[in-house]
Amino acid sequence: MKPHLKSGSDRSASSDLALRLGYFKERQEQMVQTIRQLAEIESPSDNKAAVDRLGSLLAGRFEGVGGHAKFHRTRDFGDHLQVDFPGRSGGKPIMLLGHLDTVYPLGTLQTMPVRVGDGRLYGPGTFDMKSGIAFVLHAIEALREWHADEVPRPLTILLVSDEEIGSDSSRQITESLAKKSAAVLVLEPAYGAKGAVKTARKGVGEYVLKVRGKAAHSGLDFEKGESAIIELARQILEISKMVDLKRGITLNVGTIQGGTRSNVIAAEASAVIDARVMRIKDAAMLDRKLYALKPFNRKCKLEISGGVNRPPLERTPKVAALYKKASEIAKELGWKLEEAAVGGGSDGNFTAALGIPTLDGLGGVGEGAHATHESVTISELPRRAALIAQLIETV
Ligand SMILES: [Zn+2]
Repeated sequence: MKPHLKSGSDRSASSDLALRLGYFKERQEQMVQTIRQLAEIESPSDNKAAVDRLGSLLAGRFEGVGGHAKFHRTRDFGDHLQVDFPGRSGGKPIMLLGHLDTVYPLGTLQTMPVRVGDGRLYGPGTFDMKSGIAFVLHAIEALREWHADEVPRPLTILLVSDEEIGSDSSRQITESLAKKSAAVLVLEPAYGAKGAVKTARKGVGEYVLKVRGKAAHSGLDFEKGESAIIELARQILEISKMVDLKRGITLNVGTIQGGTRSNVIAAEASAVIDARVMRIKDAAMLDRKLYALKPFNRKCKLEISGGVNRPPLERTPKVAALYKKASEIAKELGWKLEEAAVGGGSDGNFTAALGIPTLDGLGGVGEGAHATHESVTISELPRRAALIAQLIETV
């Protein structure tokens, strides 16, 4: 252990932090190699064997730095990986929350190989979120070097296998571990070129509206038909009136279906609606309104299903306090950490909704999530890892 890296009381916190940042700068290339290793194991949500390969590699790497790994087995998806570190201090753990899966199908590496160019590391999952996982590995390694081979406080790492497809099989595990934790640090990508953390995320819901009308020949019996398509069209206009951009409420009728042929009055039609809200109470309000829709044509029947399945991550005082802490650390590390509110959800939505202080967007700085140019900025890696190490130490 290098004595000058100890967190002694005889030197200012800032100079300590400068030394610690230097530690990560020296290891920038190692971090690139770690992210490369993780990205080169493809892990699409729908391929259990592939996700399990990444899970077992990571279990080994975390055990190599003193963690106790265990898997929450699932039949249809990759196993969720939990790694615990007892920590020197006792008390509630900090939870580090991420996901193993990516949106890229197996074989994507052939057209989108992991490569370095223009100061960036490109490849599937480099940004969302294999860089975030790499930060945790390297932060823990550093903390153990600074604290006589122990992490200073208990940690629980949870890397789920199904985040990109809704987290149905992992949600309960995420929530039960979060309830036992002092705070949750979410390893999702940072926002924008400046790498803002995410202190608000919209809640996300999906609804299906089905309309049943009455079929008839459009030539012989026009007046006997009750068009489900006309009814659906009118309902869609009603639904679009529920949009309130100022309050952050959006509804998008993303797909519609209906009818059989042009000479048949449609007996059935349906729409799938994406709904997003910034406040939990708006989710309940929207739910009530959608379930209360009444047919314009009394001879048509409406059937609605679905709901808000990811509550919003609201910028509560607890979330704001955690952001303040992170921005103070960033300031001492020499940069201004900004915050952002975004429309997409993450597993941080679940933990924040339980009232557990949650800070999201602590992963890599980059661009092109889920796209062919997905990449992270290499020069940003050291300070992001330093931020996570310092948050673990001081939250
Ligand atoms: Zn993600």
